[in-house]
Amino acid sequence: MKLKHLEMALQQLTGFSCPRAALEQYQTPAPLAARLLFHALLKGDIKEKNVCDLGSGTGVLAIGAALLGADRVKGVDIDRKAIEVAKANAALLDIDVEFVIADVRDAALPASLGCSDTVIMNPPFGAQKAHADRSFIDLALTLAPVTYSIFNAGSAQFIKTYTAERAEIDEHVGGIFPIKRTFSFHTQDIQEIGVEILRLKRIPRSIHAP
Ligand code: SAH
Repeated sequence: MKLKHLEMALQQLTGFSCPRAALEQYQTPAPLAARLLFHALLKGDIKEKNVCDLGSGTGVLAIGAALLGADRVKGVDIDRKAIEVAKANAALLDIDVEFVIADVRDAALPASLGCSDTVIMNPPFGAQKAHADRSFIDLALTLAPVTYSIFNAGSAQFIKTYTAERAEIDEHVGGIFPIKRTFSFHTQDIQEIGVEILRLKRIPRSIHAP
């Protein structure tokens, strides 16, 4: 599938029916989602891989991974309504994705989800609840050796410090996230936020480490 066709397919998907500010529910726009997914595809991290989307929302990233030939895709979100929309979106494109209602902060989640080859995610940036992204990063690094995540532009240094000795950032792709007026605190009809897609490569733990 070409980038343009992936973008067109993702464009058809339904967004959040009633977005919740506290959960920072912003659907990744199709061009940005397609850019992340294609980048991961070209790195060999999607096709025939076991992929997990954390905070899957309405399913854009998870469904895109399945369209690009992932073997098995799971999407995890805390919001039941978002999961319902995601399931309907997957059905619309006749795509097989397992969507699970769960909180990424749940310590039992790694055991129930099992390991993946690749995590893809657009976590809350922590604008509503400070450090909301940290549990996403922690879980991602537990589940998979490779993670692709969208962050606010300029976050790389923080992510590098936060994941020190657990992961290294080995790819960096810039992008734009247009946010339409959604919540009462939005002052513009559309606001363009600079973002960066980071590839986090887990550092294998040395068996000799103390
Ligand atoms: N991945 C989707 C949605 C991004 S918005 C996309 O790219 O379009 C962030 C998502 O994280 C929302 O769907 C929100 O419900 C979910 N979320 C927020 N806190 C969560 C938590 N603690 N556990 C699981 N999902 C959470």
